[in-house]
Amino acid sequence: MLKLVTPCEKLGFDKVYDTTLGADMTVIEEASEFVERLKKGEKLPMFTSCCPAWIRYAENKYPELLPNISTCRSPMQMFASVIKNNYKGDKKHVHVAIMPCTAKKFEATRDEFKVDGENAVDYVLSTQEVIAMIKTSGIDFKTLEDSSIDNPFEEITGAGVIFGVTGGVTEAVLRYASGDKSEKAFSDIAYVGVRGLEGVKEATVEILGKKVKIAVVSGLNNTSELIAKIKSGEADYDFVEVMSCPAGCVNGGGQPQADYYARAKRSEGIYKADDMEKKKTSDHNETVKKIIDSMDEHTRHKLLHVEYKK
Ligand code: SF4
Repeated sequence: MLKLVTPCEKLGFDKVYDTTLGADMTVIEEASEFVERLKKGEKLPMFTSCCPAWIRYAENKYPELLPNISTCRSPMQMFASVIKNNYKGDKKHVHVAIMPCTAKKFEATRDEFKVDGENAVDYVLSTQEVIAMIKTSGIDFKTLEDSSIDNPFEEITGAGVIFGVTGGVTEAVLRYASGDKSEKAFSDIAYVGVRGLEGVKEATVEILGKKVKIAVVSGLNNTSELIAKIKSGEADYDFVEVMSCPAGCVNGGGQPQADYYARAKRSEGIYKADDMEKKKTSDHNETVKKIIDSMDEHTRHKLLHVEYKK
């Protein structure tokens, strides 16, 4: 993302933020929601909610599963709601999100995400579109200096960074839910079975003294097959991460096309970026903690959560 700040400024944006901070917010909200459901033994398995194509698919094909989907807004929508609230009353504020995803264009227009009657995200540009804008503006991307993210949203963690790859959301949630925040604990979590480009992965971990069964699925065909197994009783999970694009957002519909090798390289890049972050878990993001702590229950629900209805 640091690489993208300078071209965005040259293209005319006044402030450039990183959605990774939104991902940190999502981790905190989603992990807390999951732990609550686990304690109550309700609405399990809990399905993740950050992929809008999966949400649409579930609405059309599996409306009976909507209560099982996390109420958390996606990182894009959580962050946008907070920013919209931050710039409340500033009529000139226009929020543009850069995403690897074409489904995010649809997500931004959904009525459920309006804040005080206005769309939280005004426009979504895919990464391919931004590449085209940079090229047609004559900006020489390769020679540009990196720049920092603007205040007050510059703080991010490795947990937010890994959202872009299949298994990343689950790994981030597990880091948050883990009582042990040591490097060894995080390294152990990386090897429980959530990493890799396979379409379906499974892991069992211990949370709150309970064995928790996890599935990580990418690709909607794989998702359909997995749901069929859950419904028939052949499979049984507590937490299911769903990404519509095979390999996750690294292979999103808004990205330059990627074969298996390119997907692997992009995923490797994401884990390297995670390695470079000193803070590994979203609860160590002080900015996010401050934002969430400053909200009363009503505001937190209004800005960070959503309910999908049949
Ligand atoms: Fe968008 Fe694909 Fe990522 Fe889903 S997995 S959020 S459809 S890029």
